[in-house]
Parts: sequence; C-alpha cells; structure tokens
Amino acid sequence: MSQKIAQVIVDVPTMQTDKPFSYRIPEELADLIQIGMRVHVPFGRGNRLMQGFIVGFADEKESGGQELKSIAEVLDFDPVLNREQLTLADAMRETVFSYKISILKAMLPNLLNSSYDKILTTEDKAIAKQYFGAEQALHFSSLDESKQALMMKLHRDGKIAVQYVAQSKESIKTKKRLALADENKLKTLAIAVRAKKRLALQDFLQTQNQIGERAWDYTDLVKLYSRDVVKFFVSEGILTLSEVEVSRAQGYFDTIAPDEHKVLNSEQEAAYQAIISSQEKPFLLEGVTGSGKTEVYLQVIAHAISQGKTAIMLVPEISLTPLMTNRFIARFGEHVAIMHSGLSDGEKYDEWRKIKSGKAKVVVGARSAIFAPLHNIGAIIIDEEHETSYKQDSNPRYHARDVAIWRAKFHRAALVLGSATPSLETRARAQQNVYQLLHLTQRASAQAEIPEVEILDMRKHLNDKSASFSEVLLDKISEKIAKGEQVVLMLNRRGYSSFIMCRDCGFVPECPNCDISLTLHMDTKTLNCHYCGHTTGIPHTCPNCQSKKIRYYGSGTQKVEEELSELLPEARILRMDVDTTKKKGAHERILSSFGAGEADILLGTQMIAKGLDFPNVTLVGVINADTALNLPDFRSSERTFQLLTQVAGRAGRADKKGEVLIQTFNPDHYAIRLAQAHDYEGFYQLEMDFRRKLNYPPYFYTVQLVISHQDEEEVVKKSYEIMALLKGNLSEKARVLGPIPKPIARTHNLYHYQLLIKYRFEKNLEQALNQVLDLTQVPDNKKLRIIIDNEPQNF
Ligand code: ADP
Ligand code: ZN
Ligand code: ZN
Repeated sequence: MSQKIAQVIVDVPTMQTDKPFSYRIPEELADLIQIGMRVHVPFGRGNRLMQGFIVGFADEKESGGQELKSIAEVLDFDPVLNREQLTLADAMRETVFSYKISILKAMLPNLLNSSYDKILTTEDKAIAKQYFGAEQALHFSSLDESKQALMMKLHRDGKIAVQYVAQSKESIKTKKRLALADENKLKTLAIAVRAKKRLALQDFLQTQNQIGERAWDYTDLVKLYSRDVVKFFVSEGILTLSEVEVSRAQGYFDTIAPDEHKVLNSEQEAAYQAIISSQEKPFLLEGVTGSGKTEVYLQVIAHAISQGKTAIMLVPEISLTPLMTNRFIARFGEHVAIMHSGLSDGEKYDEWRKIKSGKAKVVVGARSAIFAPLHNIGAIIIDEEHETSYKQDSNPRYHARDVAIWRAKFHRAALVLGSATPSLETRARAQQNVYQLLHLTQRASAQAEIPEVEILDMRKHLNDKSASFSEVLLDKISEKIAKGEQVVLMLNRRGYSSFIMCRDCGFVPECPNCDISLTLHMDTKTLNCHYCGHTTGIPHTCPNCQSKKIRYYGSGTQKVEEELSELLPEARILRMDVDTTKKKGAHERILSSFGAGEADILLGTQMIAKGLDFPNVTLVGVINADTALNLPDFRSSERTFQLLTQVAGRAGRADKKGEVLIQTFNPDHYAIRLAQAHDYEGFYQLEMDFRRKLNYPPYFYTVQLVISHQDEEEVVKKSYEIMALLKGNLSEKARVLGPIPKPIARTHNLYHYQLLIKYRFEKNLEQALNQVLDLTQVPDNKKLRIIIDNEPQNF
C-alpha cells in the first residue's frame, strides 16, 4: 500500500518553508495524482484551500501515525512541472536565497499560479466524473484542446456552470478580416471626386489586387480609411467581413514573409562550426554590433531543429521588439513561441501550452523564457549577455545565465553567450578557458562601416540658447534632416529626472514615504515618487518659505523634447521613454512609425540603444554621457562603456555611413575614450585592473543583504545581529561589510540597511545565508524583511 500520502509544497506567503507537508490522497484520486501537479489542500486552522505542488510520495508508515488532512482536489490532468524542472528547482535553491515555492512559481505562467482558478461546483464535479471518469481532476486551464472543446460543448448544452467556463472565453481570440469579393465591381464602381477616402481605398485595393493581395486586417483598414468607408465597400459587396480565430500572441505570424539563410562569412562560419560541433563548454560569441551574431544564432537554431531538437533564444526584455522577433518568425514560422512581459496572462499561457505540447520548437523570450518546458534542447542562446535584466530583481533572484548553464548541461545542448561588450565576469571566464571565446570582428553587411565617433567637451561647447544641446550637435541634426536622413538621440535619464525647487530657500519637495525628491511630470502636472508611486500637485508657493519663486529643473525626456522642438521647429520628433511606452503596443507603434519615416528624430532613454536597425539613421547623438558615470556603483564605468558602444552601433547600419556625437563633461574618462575607439579589449584590461585592486567582482564574489523594517532602531539592531551571525558562521577570509543605510534609506515607509559579503571560496556560505533567511519566519520578526541577493547587479 504505497503512494497513499503526497508531499506538497504549499503556497502560503506568511509561513514559508522548503519542507513539504504531508496530505492523504483520496482513493478516487490515487490513479491520477502525479509528481509536478498542482493541488488544492486545506491549510491551517481555518482549513482554507491553498494551492500547492506535489513533489513526492510517502508511505503511510512514514507519517508517524499522525492524522493527516486530505487533498481537496487536483488542478491538472498532466503535471505542469516536469522532473527536470523539479530537479532544477533543487539546484537553484542552493544559490538563490528565497524559498522553493518562489522558484517553482517562477517556472510557470502567472495564470497557473493565481487564484484565477475556479474551484468546481459539486454539479460540475458530477458531470466531470460522468465524462472524464474522474470527479475532481477537472480544471479547464489544464485540459488539452480536445478536452477543452468537449468542455465547451458541455457548457453550451447547459451541463456545466457558466462561471466555470468563463475563463475559457479568454483563451479564444478572433480577428476580423476583410476579403476582396467582387473584383469587377471594385474596378467599375463610380465614386464621387469629393469622397477622397473612398477613392483612396478603391485605389489601394486595386493596387493590392494587382500584386496578389486579396485579404486584409479589418482594424488596419479602418485605421487608414475610417470605419464608414470600409463599411461602404462591404455594403457594396466588394469586400466581405469575417471573423477568424487566432491564437492570441500569434495573430500576426501570417503577415511575416519567410526569409532564407544567408551565406555566412568566414568568421561567422568558423563560429558556427565550433558551436555545432561541441557541447563541452559554453561559448562566448564576442562580436561588434552588426557583425552578424543574430545570423549565427539563427543557423545554430536551424541546425538544432534539423537534428530533431529544440532551442531557447533569450534576448533582453527591451530588445524584444517586432524587429527582433520577426527575424525568428521569418525563419522558423509556426515553430516559434514568444514570451515577454508585454503579453497578457492569457497570451503567456497560450505560448506556454504551445511549448509544453511540443508544437513550439524555438522559444524566443526574455529572462523567464529560460524555464520554457521544452524537451530535448539542442541550443540555448543568450544575446546581449551583459544585460542586467537577465538577473531578476525580485524573489527568486536568479540569473538566467546560471539557469542556462544548468539546462545546457542537463540536455547536452550548445550554450552561446553573445555580446559586443561582454560582462567582465563572462569575459574573465572565457580568458580562463571556462568558456570558449569566438570572435566576430567585421560588420557583416559589406557596405556597413563601423561609425565614426566624435566626443564633444561640453565645458567648451556651452550654449546660451540651450541647456541640453551644443551648437555642433544642433547643426549636425539639421544637416541630416535636410538630407532626408534620420537621427537617434539618447538621453541617459537614470538618476537625472526633473524636479522643482524654490529659488529663495532651495526647498525641494520629497516623498513623505521615501527619502527621495519627487519627479516632475509635466503631462499630468504632478509630482510623483518613482519608488512608491505617491502623487501630489505642484505647489504655487513654497511650503517652506512661502516664496512664489518655484522653478522647474532637470532634463527629463519631456523637457528635452520641448526644448528641441523650439530649437528645430520643423523637425518631426518621436519620444520613447517609460511614459510614452506605458500602453500595450506603444513601444512597437513608435518604432514602426519611425521606421516608416514618419519622424526625423527618435528621442529616448537607453530604451532606444538596443536592437534598433534602421538603415536611414546616420546620426546618433548622446546628449549626456556622464549620468551613468556618476552613479555610486562599481560597475558604473562598465555600464557607460556598454551603453555608448551599443548606442553607437545604431548608426550607419546599411550603406550610408553613420556618425556618432557624444556630449560629455568628462571627455577624458577611459570608458568614454575607449567606447569612442570601439576598443573593448582595452577597456577590459583597464577595468579588470581596477577591479583587482579594489577586490571587486570578478575577482571576488558578492552577496548583498537588505534588511528592512518600519522602525529604524529595530532595523539597525537586527542588522547588527545578522552581521554577528554571519561573522560567526563564515570563515575569517570572508569580509562582511556594513551595516550601512542603503543609498535611498527609506522607501514605502520602510528603513533599509545593507550588508555586503565579499568572498572567494566559502564553504559555509549557503548554510549561513539560509539561517539568515529563516529569521523572517520567527514570529517575533513578522515585520522584518530580509532580501538576500547573490551577485547583485545594482547597488
Ligand atoms: P548583430 O546581431 O551582430 O548585431 P546582425 O545579425 O543583426 O548583427 O547582422 C547585421 C546585418 O547584417 C543584418 O542586416 C543582417 O541581415 C546582415 N547579415 C548578417 N550576416 C550576413 C551575411 N553572412 N551576409 C550578408 N548579410 C548578413
Ligand atoms: Zn522656499
Ligand atoms: Zn515614495
């Protein structure tokens, strides 16, 4: 009589532990339950139903004769987590210091983690039993498609409750399409000359017809010609309107033209051959921007597919633009699944199912796509491997690169880390032969040359008329626009936002919850806190001295845009920053509008530095190269070098030669000089030297602990306790620094203190940090928050 008891990791936020709880398996579920399935179990005194994961089984004997509660219901027909994922979770737990439940949840689409899931009514269960043989195993979201279809039918037949199927509605999306129905009538229809839009649509349809296009997206045509005009053609019988079902995120697949392999140049070929012939260690593909790394990725993936295998392609969230994803869809069509934060929960779930069912062979996505439940992986690729977004900055604080290394080993897959400016950690590993280094030194497209970079010393080029633009940059912009070419301007806004200040007493309004000045937003006419979201109006008189001399300061993108449109009134400007890209799809709209030549200048934050490939851009201007240099972070030079190199790579992508202008107050800084010279090697040598002298990564490893509490005295006391605990447990060689207040010492009404551990080899680290983590579960510490960040990316 084995398998009577299941071990369940329960999702209880207030009481976390990695120890599974034991539950009795009801007899009718005995044949159904498998490891990796989700269940609802009664928990605590109130027996509230909580979601959990089955992670193992035990014999009755092992429960020690204790009276056990029973599993209430199973939520899945098939395990949502497979053996590989459960083993991976165990491995991750050793380097990620948050509880295992957070890791398991990170592997699944939100929809499966949230309480979205409806619990079945008794009636539904009875019906389920009748049709599926199992009473409690039914859960719409976990059914495969044929079973879902059956469920829908049962619902339509009135046999299953409405609320139960409500969720399924979301999983079907339709799209309105227009098709040409009457070619002759289209030609002969007489339209009055006044009806300009009708004429325009007639004209459009005729030219489309000539090139063989006879179907269009309804919303596209409405956008271009208005609803009424489209309706008119439908009422005339020229167009017919129909609804077709589309899988949510994939609706646009059919619009992308397929694309052929390019013949690799000799450097690309050498890299490609190396990658497909050995999986012994990871590869670092170091290639200047535009050297054809992506083409190598595409062919490595094609090779994996030809071997019957699958592939994961990771890109930073911010480069998941249609431009990038389209290249993969163009090559691999329906085999592609896409995962990024712009998708709704339903869309993400669709993609996840497409992967799990084996339909998707290539997953293109941001950080969390590294968990994609693919089988038989042949290649994992991380593009722009130096990007900080590969490290999650909430629990579980994992780095996608570490997960990739683990999975590549598990599947014996090739792992490629690609970048023009590899992180020092990665490059140092390549230097020591832990990774194999591959180089691409030339731009791939024959005409595209590496752009010329000019540094402008702003101390010598101060402009009375403008705070942000030198005359030189303005003249260059005008010159390019006059030639019909396009310009990209980057404002490195981090730590450089707009604020208001009293001219008489210097008062700057701060957030009442956080130690930070409020940011001015001109579009909403408010002052906002960028940490906690606190919002207030702009005062007319100073709250401190009652003076009326409140002035606006700073150089946010909005302000620079205003300034630019005054200086160059004819220029058409598009702005891209967090404010203009909040709405779903806004990011894509801005880019496609710029790509279509609807604007002369694209002005934005570092968001614009990545992945853009516009042949008509011949000038890239960096308005202020210094802001990132001034951050209190030992990686500030590395970030600046990476950012400048990347943004410079946006110029001159095709046959027109590109120019880059960098405005700076630190023209002699090595990060700026070496970015100008496109000299990664030189930068690497200098920066490593600096890191070695100051005991920073990659010479030392770091762990940051952030301890937070509402009461400052309490947080200081606890921080010292934790420091003592660490010092007692770690060897003498490890250094524990702090506690010190965080640079922003208070947010969300909590005080934050930090400790930093620096070490080279430390065998007690895991045990010591787990002991610290468990402090949060002590009843006395209910209000204490501890974040343990292994290898933090931001300080
Ligand atoms: P990276 O990813 O290194 O920035 P891409 O793969 O985007 O570079 O290549 C830059 C440009 O060169 C793209 O337009 C790409 O289509 C083109 N390209 C890449 N490889 C080749 C090749 N072997 N022959 C011709 N063009 C190529
Ligand atoms: Zn004042
Ligand atoms: Zn705040």
